[in-house]
Amino acid sequence: MLRPTKPPLSDHLKQLVGQPADAIDTPALVVDLDAMQRNLSRMAEFARKHEIRWRPHAKMHKCSAIARLQMQAGAVGVCVQKTAEAEAMAAGGVHDIFISNEVIAPAKLARVAALAHQLAAEKGQLAIAVDSREGVARLAQAMNDARHTSGNAAVIDVFVEIDVGQGRCGVPPGREAGALVHEIRKHPALRFAGIQAYHGKAQHVRSAQERRDIIARAAQDAAFTRKLIEGDGVKVPLITGAGTGSMVCEAATGVYGELQAGSFLFMDADYAQNERDPAQPQFEHALFVKTQVISAGLQHAVCDAGHKSHAIDSGLPKVHQFDAQDDLAYGNGGDEHGILTPATADVAVPDIGRVLWLIPGHCDPTVNLHDHMVGVKGGLEKGTVDRILRVDARGALT
Ligand code: PLP
Ligand code: MN
Repeated sequence: MLRPTKPPLSDHLKQLVGQPADAIDTPALVVDLDAMQRNLSRMAEFARKHEIRWRPHAKMHKCSAIARLQMQAGAVGVCVQKTAEAEAMAAGGVHDIFISNEVIAPAKLARVAALAHQLAAEKGQLAIAVDSREGVARLAQAMNDARHTSGNAAVIDVFVEIDVGQGRCGVPPGREAGALVHEIRKHPALRFAGIQAYHGKAQHVRSAQERRDIIARAAQDAAFTRKLIEGDGVKVPLITGAGTGSMVCEAATGVYGELQAGSFLFMDADYAQNERDPAQPQFEHALFVKTQVISAGLQHAVCDAGHKSHAIDSGLPKVHQFDAQDDLAYGNGGDEHGILTPATADVAVPDIGRVLWLIPGHCDPTVNLHDHMVGVKGGLEKGTVDRILRVDARGALT
């Protein structure tokens, strides 16, 4: 099995724990641990109130230490998108993992099967999604090969993914899904675990009512598919899906039994632009890029965080506003620079040396740019570095 290599902590990072946040060199990815903990508690409370399981998506933070915190807070396990992410989570002590994606290459499936056996031996569980007969046959082959090698009879949980309107992976709801369940049940090493019905496109639809409408249709598709499968005498144990943008809608349908939201923990600038559903917990921004002004002119200043520090696929970062003088617009200055301009006439161009905190446009690919996140408690400006969080599934693409 591939073991992720761990780059050593730099001397700066090693010495940082216990220091004031002021000592964090820039640019750096910083987690406000108090805000993160509040988001975690809000999610746990929401799930308890709605009697629904939550299995947060770890592709967002890629950090096994955070995954363990989520499980301590009540998550049943984590989702990942990639085999290598699953391996990194398992190496970091996470034992209940769902690869919410299709895996087709035999070399990867051999790793999936080996991991299923490893987790079974640790009293954990691996699950995976399928959307084709070919995928089921290949998975079964890999699981059987691993059974011969290990001598153990581990079982992998298999979810049939249906396309509820995103137009990405998944078979159409209905008969085709039923046919795949039939295929899965032919193989003793595969256990049909339910239906994956995730609607990615709904997540950033700005209007709360439109999100509700989209997810109501998705839930109908999922419920219809379940009825068809159960009509054949096969129990559907679970319907799983949902992201941060739509989770309150899935929870309200009574059809979904598990929420996969990931970004709620860090809340990026893109998600902050959604119209908030009144049922949605008040998630706060908890992920920031600390940056410093390195050049200043009459009209603008330049900071040391460009798009090698944060992803820009979902828009540029926002400058976090501690006070009115932070009302600055961030413009793209390239790989290593950000251009800061006062948003109103009352705001001054920031001075050289000034520290600013950016809220990334999109948290997942931002985290993937960094080996470590610096965890701060007691506030960003006056707080203390509490821990260094290793992004141990960084770059885990295979
Ligand atoms: N589930 C699946 C299958 C996903 O692909 C994603 C994100 O793209 C999520 C859940 C979590 O979404 P978010 O991080 O936006 O909450
Ligand atoms: Mn995302």
